[in-house]
Amino acid sequence: MRGSQPAVVDLHLHTIFSDGLFTPEELVIRAEQTGFTAIAITDHDSVEGIERARVQGKRLGVEVVPGVELSSNVNGTDVHILGYYIDYRSPAVQEFFTRVREFRLQRAERMVNKLNELAGGRWRVSFERVKEIAGAGAVGRPHVAQALVEAGGVASMSEAFEKYIGYDGPAYFPKLRLTPAEVIERIHQAGGLAVIAHPATYGNDGLVYLVIAAGVDGIEVWHPEHNQRAVDHYLELAQKNRLLVTGGSDCHGGRKFGRVYLGDIRLPYQYLMALKRRAKKC
Ligand code: AMP
Ligand code: ZN
Ligand code: FE
Ligand code: FE
Repeated sequence: MRGSQPAVVDLHLHTIFSDGLFTPEELVIRAEQTGFTAIAITDHDSVEGIERARVQGKRLGVEVVPGVELSSNVNGTDVHILGYYIDYRSPAVQEFFTRVREFRLQRAERMVNKLNELAGGRWRVSFERVKEIAGAGAVGRPHVAQALVEAGGVASMSEAFEKYIGYDGPAYFPKLRLTPAEVIERIHQAGGLAVIAHPATYGNDGLVYLVIAAGVDGIEVWHPEHNQRAVDHYLELAQKNRLLVTGGSDCHGGRKFGRVYLGDIRLPYQYLMALKRRAKKC
């Protein structure tokens, strides 16, 4: 408890170790200022920000939950799966993420080459620049989109997605293809709990049922892209299947549509408590 404020948590946040704009330290500072008791760091395919966030969390009294966001693939659609309380220090876990990130790098280069082919001399995106934008982060489409904007190929990040690197775009290439069952298995092997991220965003509950059948432990019910109907629906689905429920802002530090999102989802601490009990962390 902070004074008389109820304890609230945000279980879905990105840092510079994927496609977020805040360092782990900045994120913890902002979370503390926004009134959070606990936050989870859930970078795409990376656990590299967790330790730094934990150090800062200890200084400020913010509990930092170790997490990650992995992509599974079902018939060409990415379905994101969050992993909580994985053993992020394990060499086997880190090796796996390194392999997934190496594939991301090759895929980013493919996208850059394709974009330059499509340019017909109108622009030139440099792969070096994409790597520079990504910095320490798992390189992804947001970094490629930013480089394309800088090169003058499009006016905005969303135009980059709409015209070129969205699923149906001519310069889209998939990441390493893992099935939901494979991703869930990896998370379980690492001692973690698997939660399907932002289920309403797929526009296809068939995918959600598939992930439930594959053995997921929870559903992310609260997310900025979920309306009240989606919240009610996934809460019911979770209850029916006896699954954990989580929520988070999916803050990318302003990289997503220029909005920060931190503070938009304030999940009561009891939901983290339930997650911790299931993970045997309390
Ligand atoms: P990747 O994992 O490299 O395929 O990149 C996916 C990430 O791109 C997502 O996690 C979002 O943060 C971001 N993204 C997806 N669609 C859009 C969009 N239309 N505009 C801006 N960012 C997007
Ligand atoms: Zn992202
Ligand atoms: Fe996601
Ligand atoms: Fe995310």
